[in-house]
Amino acid sequence: MKNNVIVPFIDLKKQHNSIKDEIEKAIKAVFEGSSFSGGEFASNFEEEFAAFCNCRFAIGVGSGTDAIWLSLLALGVTKGDEVITVPNTFIATAEAISFCGAKPVFVDVDEKTLTMNPQLIEPAITDKTKAIIPVHLHGQPADMYNILSVAKKHGLFVIEDACQAHGAIYKNQPVGSMGHTGCFSFYPGKNIGACGEAGIVVTNMEKVDYDIRILHDHGQTDKNNHSIIGWNSRMDGLQGAILSVKLKYLPAWNETRRHRAELYNTYLSHVSGITIPQIADYAKSVCHIYAIQSQKRDALLNDLFENGIQCGIHYPVPIHLQKAYRHLNLGEGSYPVAEKCANKLLSLPIFPEINPSQIEHVAHRIKLSLHSY
Ligand SMILES: *Cc1c(COP(=O)(O)O)cnc(C)c1O
Repeated sequence: MKNNVIVPFIDLKKQHNSIKDEIEKAIKAVFEGSSFSGGEFASNFEEEFAAFCNCRFAIGVGSGTDAIWLSLLALGVTKGDEVITVPNTFIATAEAISFCGAKPVFVDVDEKTLTMNPQLIEPAITDKTKAIIPVHLHGQPADMYNILSVAKKHGLFVIEDACQAHGAIYKNQPVGSMGHTGCFSFYPGKNIGACGEAGIVVTNMEKVDYDIRILHDHGQTDKNNHSIIGWNSRMDGLQGAILSVKLKYLPAWNETRRHRAELYNTYLSHVSGITIPQIADYAKSVCHIYAIQSQKRDALLNDLFENGIQCGIHYPVPIHLQKAYRHLNLGEGSYPVAEKCANKLLSLPIFPEINPSQIEHVAHRIKLSLHSY
């Protein structure tokens, strides 16, 4: 039985099989229209996704990383500027800041929600600060009211990193719609994934929409007229067509994820030695990741793996301790909450197609594991 996968971390094949006919039909239409880069399928999806986020505009781009980077560029973030974000995110958030020539300035996260602690923002602001990038980690919206209040007071832009939170709701507002821009990734493992790489920026600001549209298409204002130096980060027509099919299913998929997370909560809330994810009152999470915390994380991960249960760690090394960011000179102890959770977090399998019996099996194995050492 060893290393035979009984519960995978994610099962993209199962999801694909459930909508295979529609996906194949969509792909065929793209071939028939030869609309491969940008074009009608990408722009149809932009319209649908903007509506999904309750936003006026959406610009399909090459990835979630590009979505953040192009947002920063469009808002004028440049060399010498500082951008505030959190250290417990995927490295892309910081990379996007660095690729504008700006410096990422980290603030620690709230112990309960693991999202940006709004009280720590003000002390981190300098006269170089231009923007704040809160991350809706694991599918849970950050504390947007308090983040937006600080930003407004200091005249800072807010870019929502919603790459893990498609469809999550803060109070009654969809993530992505509250900041100056909202950035989403369609990496295959996200709640809605492309069959390849893709991302999107949503915004309510006409000027930002216009600027990103130009930036992501070589600075072209119209055919052969390049008014600024841009880049190529257009969405593929194929990805747009596929994502249009998947977007119709996303609300139901998110609902099932929430249900599966509730099941985990039911089985695990009273188990000593672990903490279950905590969701703030203001948040409706889309449960992209279901991460428990345990002092015995590494042993638990290993025991579950030995018993055919695939887990993950998001993320084992906070960004300020990565080699790539050594030049920031931020040693251990700089962000105690982020560092502590990096050592304790364990992501359990969660995806819309996981069965309740598989959840029960994982929970049962966790209890056995915790008793055996
Ligand atoms: C996935 C992710 C990104 C980057 O998205 P890509 O499409 O992989 O470039 C950025 N931020 C967070 C929090 C993510 O989870």
